[in-house]
Amino acid sequence: AWTLAPLGAVVGLLLWLALLSHMRATRSLPVVMRAALADDEFFLEYQPIVDLDSGRWVSAEALIRWKRPDGTLIRPDLFIPAAEDSGLIQRITERVLELVCAEAPALFARHPQFRLSINLSAADLATGLVVHRLRELTNQPGIEPHNLAVEATERGLLAVDATRRVLADIRALGIRAAIDDFGTGYSGLSYLGTFEVDSLKIDKAFIDTVGTDAPTSDVAVHIIEMAKTLRLDVVAEGIEHPEQAEFLRGRGVRYGQGWLFAKSMPMPALLAALDSAADGSAGGPVTSVE
Ligand code: C2E
Ligand code: MG
Ligand code: MG
Ligand code: MG
Repeated sequence: AWTLAPLGAVVGLLLWLALLSHMRATRSLPVVMRAALADDEFFLEYQPIVDLDSGRWVSAEALIRWKRPDGTLIRPDLFIPAAEDSGLIQRITERVLELVCAEAPALFARHPQFRLSINLSAADLATGLVVHRLRELTNQPGIEPHNLAVEATERGLLAVDATRRVLADIRALGIRAAIDDFGTGYSGLSYLGTFEVDSLKIDKAFIDTVGTDAPTSDVAVHIIEMAKTLRLDVVAEGIEHPEQAEFLRGRGVRYGQGWLFAKSMPMPALLAALDSAADGSAGGPVTSVE
């Protein structure tokens, strides 16, 4: 047995080292993010939302990106949850609003009916600060309330009591609101319908299977029918195949988003695409999906 002892010690040491480095990595992420905010390492890309009937781009969602000085791109799925846990998310949201403030006026000057949507986390909806920030944003020259929308996840909305009030205040400014990633929570549309929102975005998980025999496709249809009853606009997320778009359009879904139409892109690319569209007011380079 004594021959195994050194091996056990080595394995133990390696495990300990791995654990330590993992803890260091997770603990230091907020610290690194704080520095990254100061060093301007965050930027925005915009993913179009398409009218499924006409194929025109009617709005776009602002999606945050983090580029490290060495060129590494860190996905929001990795750092947004860490930012939420560490209380840094409100700083991130402020940066997003600053970036929109800097980039959007050129867009709205040429496409006055276009809309940009901004993702909000539970912490943003827990205090009235974001309402104040959004009001400031709409007070900027070249940004009107009808040019903006917010997206809040089901989980975010249910996190604290204040979200209902904050959401109502945001809509009172004339800014639209959507429930994001709909279907991934357990609260049900009838309950969420008591929140003041204009639309809901059906999560990609349910869109993946539409047009197939998979049972989750029934869930999508059910969500669509309930949204109609509540008179909510529906946006289908993560559409990758024409058959999905066709199916959803046939069910009366008005809007779609996904790689079939366009991936997220920097503002200059979005502007160029909108400018070159046949109908400059709200078009995109991608033609209709029929
Ligand atoms: P989300 O708000 O549901 O955004 C949709 C995500 O799906 C985006 O990922 C988008 O790039 C991706 N996507 C869109 N179409 C397709 C498709 O056809 N196929 C596939 N495979 N993916 C598609 P992204 O940009 O990595 O963002 C991930 C999540 O991070 C977002 O999910 C959102 O919850 C969060 N996030 C991103 N930006 C922000 C932000 O500024 N603030 C906050 N609080 N959260 C953000
Ligand atoms: Mg979103
Ligand atoms: Mg979404
Ligand atoms: Mg989603």
